[in-house]
Amino acid sequence: MTILNLEKIKCSKGHLFEAKLLSAVSVSDNPELKEALVAGEVNIVSCPKCGEIFYAECFILYHDSKNELIAFVYPLSFQEQAVQCKAKMKKEFELALLSFEEKQKIKYEPLLLFGIEDLVLLLRTEQDIEDEESILKYLASKLSLNTIKIAPNLARKLGIPKVLPIPKGEKNLEFKSLISSLQILIKHNPNLLHYVEFFEKILNHKTIIDDIKK
Ligand SMILES: [Zn+2]
Repeated sequence: MTILNLEKIKCSKGHLFEAKLLSAVSVSDNPELKEALVAGEVNIVSCPKCGEIFYAECFILYHDSKNELIAFVYPLSFQEQAVQCKAKMKKEFELALLSFEEKQKIKYEPLLLFGIEDLVLLLRTEQDIEDEESILKYLASKLSLNTIKIAPNLARKLGIPKVLPIPKGEKNLEFKSLISSLQILIKHNPNLLHYVEFFEKILNHKTIIDDIKK
């Protein structure tokens, strides 16, 4: 699902023109659109009168089903109306859910963001985490570790990676074995900053393990 809307746009000199802007994108079918978004190449317009090239802001609905991420991205100027935006988002999200088949029902909450920068920042951070997850998967057998994967939306909510190391042969996630596996991983590669951060976080907030296991 990719939706382009014809919108009225004004350049900084006040010239009015129309251009098609991306207003909804499902990146599961369109990975190249995710790359374009992260690179800041989406909704760039050029004024036909003066040639000014700029980013035209509009509402964007972003959906990545694989990563369990739905974001309602309002223009930055809407931040002052955050409460109204949140109520509108809830209503629209519930309406959208009604039209889905039962098995496709989305079981995670949408995110409310203001400004494309926030979405780009989130996507870049998640890409960084994914890169570290790939390194963990690559190193696992060498370090006698296994990995388990938790739901992406849960990992996002807790601010932790979604691929976690556990000792080889173990199937369940336990506090002690998670700590020892993280220690092994970080000792081997101290540059995995998101895992270092997760290690410190779980040491300080032991109850995270209960949230993960929920
Ligand atoms: Zn112009």
